[in-house]
Parts: sequence; C-alpha cells; structure tokens
Amino acid sequence: MSASGSLYVNGEFTPAASGHTAPVHEKATGDPIGAYALGGPADVDRAVAAARAAQPGWAALGAPERAACLERFAEDLRSRYEELVELSMRETGGVRAKAEDEVTAGLRQLAISAVQAVQSAGDILQPYKAGKLSLSRAVPLGVIGVITPWNYPFNLALRAVAPGLAFGNTIVLKPAELTPILGGQVFAEAAHAAGFPPGVFNLVTGDGPEAGHALAEHRGLDLLDFTGSREVGLAIAASAAADLRQIRLELGGSNAFVVLEDADIELAASCAMVASLEFQGQTCISASRHIVLREVADRYVEAVTRRVERLRVGDPVREQVELGPLISEAQRDRVHRGIVQPSLAKGASLVAGGTYEGLFYRPTVLTGVTPDMPAFSEEIFGPVLPITVVDSEEEAIGLVNGYPMLMNSVFTADLMRGMAVAERLQAGEVHVNDAHARHGAENQMPGFTRRQWIGVQRTPLEPPAWTR
Ligand code: NAD
Repeated sequence: MSASGSLYVNGEFTPAASGHTAPVHEKATGDPIGAYALGGPADVDRAVAAARAAQPGWAALGAPERAACLERFAEDLRSRYEELVELSMRETGGVRAKAEDEVTAGLRQLAISAVQAVQSAGDILQPYKAGKLSLSRAVPLGVIGVITPWNYPFNLALRAVAPGLAFGNTIVLKPAELTPILGGQVFAEAAHAAGFPPGVFNLVTGDGPEAGHALAEHRGLDLLDFTGSREVGLAIAASAAADLRQIRLELGGSNAFVVLEDADIELAASCAMVASLEFQGQTCISASRHIVLREVADRYVEAVTRRVERLRVGDPVREQVELGPLISEAQRDRVHRGIVQPSLAKGASLVAGGTYEGLFYRPTVLTGVTPDMPAFSEEIFGPVLPITVVDSEEEAIGLVNGYPMLMNSVFTADLMRGMAVAERLQAGEVHVNDAHARHGAENQMPGFTRRQWIGVQRTPLEPPAWTR
C-alpha cells in the first residue's frame, strides 16, 4: 500500500479535505519523486479525534501486545532498509553515510522502545511511614501531536513516535513539507502493514502554516512535541502559554567550537569538518562559531582551509562527494544573503568558498568574524566555518556563553583543562577533543508519560478520632 499523496487517518489512506496535493522533489536534481497531501485544520480535527478514540484501547492492550505491534512496524521498515537509505539521499540531499546513520538510528530507537515497553513500569519508593507501600508508575499522557523538521526526518520522527506509542499514547504526526515521504508516508505504510489498531498512528501531511499550525493549536492534544526552528518554537510556546497547553520543544542554536592554544590543530581541524560540514552543516548540533586562541589561529585557518578545498560538492546519489545540495533555495538564500554576505559587508574575510551553483554551496571559511556579525550570532544551517580569534581562554568562554546553543566542543592537550572549560560552557552537551554527539537513540520515556504516585495502606490503621 503506497501512501503517496494521501493522509493516513483512523487506519485509512485518505485524500486531504482540500483535495490538493503538492510534489516532492529530489534535492540534487529537482526531479519529482512523489507527492504529499495538503492537509489542513479539518484533517487535523479528524486525525486528533481518531487518535483520541483509539487511545484508551491502545493503552489497555497491554505492553507485550504494543511491543509486538512496534516490532512488526520496525520489521516492515527494516525490510526496506536499502530503499529508505536511497530515499533519504534523494529527499534530504545527504550523502550515503548520513542516510545510513539516520535510518539506523531510527530503527534502533524502535527496538529500544519495544523493549522499554515491556520493562519496568515504574518504581517502588520508600514509604514515608512504616506500614505503607508507595509506588510510582508511568501513565501515558494520551494523544501526542508530533511536528518534525526536514534534516533527519526519519529518526527525529521516530524518537518521539516510538516511545510515545510504546507507552500507550496515540500519535498524530505532521512531517516537514520538504521531506514528507521519509518523514511520514513510510511510517503510515509500516503502521498499516503492522496492523496497528485504527487511530493509533495518524499522518497529516501539509504545509507548516496550515497543517502544522492547526496541529500546534489543537486543544485535543495532551502534548505537542515540536522539533524545528527557534522562530516557530517561540510562536508555539507563546500560544501554548496562554492556556498552559503541554509542549516539548527541540530547537536550534548557535553552537561553538573552541580551540585553545595547546590544542592538536590537525585533530581540531578534522573534527571541524564533521562539526560544521556534515550534511552541509544542516544539523541542529552543527558548530556555528569557531573561537580560536590567537597563538594558533593562523595554523588553524590553514589546516581547516586545506581540508575544505579538497571537499567535493555534488549529487550524492550519482557522484562520489562529501557534500550534497542544500535543502532548498530558501535555505541557500538564508545562508548566502542572510549570513555570508552581511558578515562580509561588516568586515569578515572570505578564505574559501562563498559561491554556489543551484543548491550546491561551496564549503566556506570566514575569518575576522566578530559578535556583531550574523555568522557569529545566528544559527547558520549551511556549510560555513566562521572563525573568531581571541586572546585568552577567559575571553573564549565569555564569547561562547550568552547565546542559545545545544552542543559545544573544546580542544586542548590538557584533558583536565578541557573538562574545566566544558563545565563553564552553558550548553546541554560539551565535547572535549571531539565533534558532535556520538549518541545512540535516546531514552525518551520520561517525556511521554506522566508519573503517578500510588499510596497503598498495607496494615490496618486505626482512624484518627476526628474522622470517626
Ligand atoms: P521549521 O521550524 O521551519 O519547521 C519545522 C516543522 O514545523 C515543519 O514540519 C514545518 O512544516 C512546521 N511548521 C512551520 N511553521 C509552522 C507553524 N507556524 N506552526 C506549526 N508548525 C509549523 O524548521 P526546519 O527548517 O524544518 O528545521 C530546521 C530547524 O530545526 C533548525 O533550527 C534546527 O536547529 C532545528 N532542529 C532541531 C533539532 C533538535 O533536536 N533540537 C533537530 C533537528 C532540527
């Protein structure tokens, strides 16, 4: 069963209420590779109603049965592994290694969630008084709306969908309009093949301001799980605050890559390729700012530029390349006109790249970057390495902090110094002498259940006089 051009609501592939579809393009060639239904508020209403109706039965089904459903869902996707890897390369424009990582991480998340579903359902707590039994158990939240971005559409959807389903929640997924096949349609096909009860998994494709907005605003959700830009995240947070709707946001930031004067420069430069250029820099944990001590700045710029000039940019499906196309013209214009050109106009120097053909943007090295330039303060989401020179470790730490960020790196020959600097950087994750998280699928259970504390009276208690 193919989901091309359809929504998946209440166990059925259906057209959008609008009756309209839009094409999906291969990013390197611009060729059409499918279509997605242009869903809107009426479709979101139907999907949320189906998910709400299905949720009590799904939660009551029992963990082994839910786990078995998830295993069949995973099996269907695993049997299509090669097809999904190629789809990722075409639909997102990433090279094979990125596509394999993405699909593998998603499948691993499904396996973990299926196991977690049948493992511990909570804890036995120390009772606050002798003679009492105190339990804490995980209870599903209910209906979860999931909105995902285009950069890793497969595993970023599954990191919410898999644990959500495992713990008895039902789902309405709205994938990014640039990647609705790998980010949505393949899941609808797998849910159908796995025999999910109708309404447990629902897919509403469509554009952000219509289908996305309708889902984010929907009062029938128990949680909205959003991964995407700070701009959209801020608007969702502001709206949710008005009536205290529950949301979970995974947004972007301007991540920093710090090179101290005692660092191994060749190691730092090769990690910089991964940190700033993997998937053309379109990763939420990409390094956006390179902050380098003056003593080693020239050597670092030379080592980075030497590597950048060797990199090949092209079609990841048909050529041997390290970088593919950017995801869209809008994204390319944001990088070139919104980041690189204004930073050059403010006095940065172009050492490599800075040009493009179509969506193929040359990896770019900028030096002389200062905090008043967008290359320093903005999330770039493109293949650009802006380099800022500082005179001390203290100055480096001061420049890193104070911006929204997800992950930083620090390079130094002295591990203890690296740890000390890492402790002072305000990011959720810091790597010493390494780039990017090498994390596996995450354990998301706490985000998709609420905790329920249970008190049980074990020994008969004489009621207090005033209650008799
Ligand atoms: P985006 O915010 O433009 O879109 C994300 C999703 O939101 C898409 O499905 C889109 O259709 C939808 N959307 C757009 N407008 C909406 C609206 N008004 N209401 C509701 N939904 C709407 O982001 P993007 O360009 O797809 O993704 C890139 C961003 O995502 C970057 O900032 C990146 O850092 C971030 N990101 C974060 C993580 C993370 O785990 N923290 C992971 C990947 C990407």
